[in-house]
Amino acid sequence: MNNIFGWTKEALAASLKEQGVPRFRAEQIVRWMYQRGAVSLHAMDNLPKGLRTQLAERFSIMRPQVISRLHSADGATIKLLHEFADGQTAETVLMRHSYGNSVCISTQAGCRMGCAFCASTLHGLQRNLTAGEIAAQVIGIADFLRMEGARVDTIVVMGSGEPLENYDNVVAALRLLHEDYTIGLSYRGITLSTSGIVPGIERLSEEGIPISLSISLHAPTDELRSQIMPVNRMYPLAALLRAACSYAERTKRRVTYEYILIRDLNDGVREAEQLAALLRGQLASVNLIPINPVAERQLFRPSKAAVRRFQHVLEERHITATLRREMGTDIQAACGQLRNRLMEAGL
Ligand code: SAH
Repeated sequence: MNNIFGWTKEALAASLKEQGVPRFRAEQIVRWMYQRGAVSLHAMDNLPKGLRTQLAERFSIMRPQVISRLHSADGATIKLLHEFADGQTAETVLMRHSYGNSVCISTQAGCRMGCAFCASTLHGLQRNLTAGEIAAQVIGIADFLRMEGARVDTIVVMGSGEPLENYDNVVAALRLLHEDYTIGLSYRGITLSTSGIVPGIERLSEEGIPISLSISLHAPTDELRSQIMPVNRMYPLAALLRAACSYAERTKRRVTYEYILIRDLNDGVREAEQLAALLRGQLASVNLIPINPVAERQLFRPSKAAVRRFQHVLEERHITATLRREMGTDIQAACGQLRNRLMEAGL
């Protein structure tokens, strides 16, 4: 049995053609799957009954199941844990901003990047998510929002996993979500975050989808960055910044650098000065994020004063630095935290 959730209209039409089913049926089916919340082929009541039965013998449209749902106290953030057909799990977060609804999606079950501050990598990589599993995280939330007359306005590829290590499936999912027969998401409304896989960034700049790129920088020198992000040993800062700059030039999209502030590790005036020197002259902005402490790691948040001082040093040197508004800290919304809690509880 083929699970067709995640297929494009063209792929479905080609497969239906082999069964002698006309092309317009593919249009009807994809709209049921991606716009009308159908969870069974039998529910597609503008298809003849016989055809539904015939299709149900060959195809399923199974989606991941939501096995846990947490609402933040202020109601602005909802975190879902999705379970896939083989029992793997991944997190998805809905954030209701004043400017619209944003969904943060995962691209892998687990992660193999080994970043010192991140909960997603604690149990290693289980597997890549398929394009259908990635897209389903957004489609499920779009279905839910539709009931209240709302929609998904933007997505951030910042959940568990390294998206550029699962390049083909991630790009296929983003292209699918852009289609008018799904949710018609604008590429400008998509931000992809990477730990710094240089060949992936180069490939993405040639892909012809003008999405925004966000680089998880977190340290201003190779020495410190290699300590907390092993990926830096393979793709050091100079190569990473070169790739990011050329991405900005090719796509005309501004690159954002994420910088988690960790007490006494990377939050000093010296690091702020080094960071400003590193980014001087670039069309770039820095997003400062006080670390969301992960119980398993001995890394702590800087004081408010240290955060302000860091931001001030950057601004004095004409680097735009915003402090990320934190959402969902009370519901373990930092990368991988909910999944770990459930894994450890033996669920
Ligand atoms: N692998 C990709 C995307 C997933 S991580 C990447 O590295 O960018 C998404 C963002 O969450 C990254 O900027 C990452 O550094 C950040 N993050 C991970 N653990 C965190 C923590 N404990 N506190 C705050 N941000 C964290």
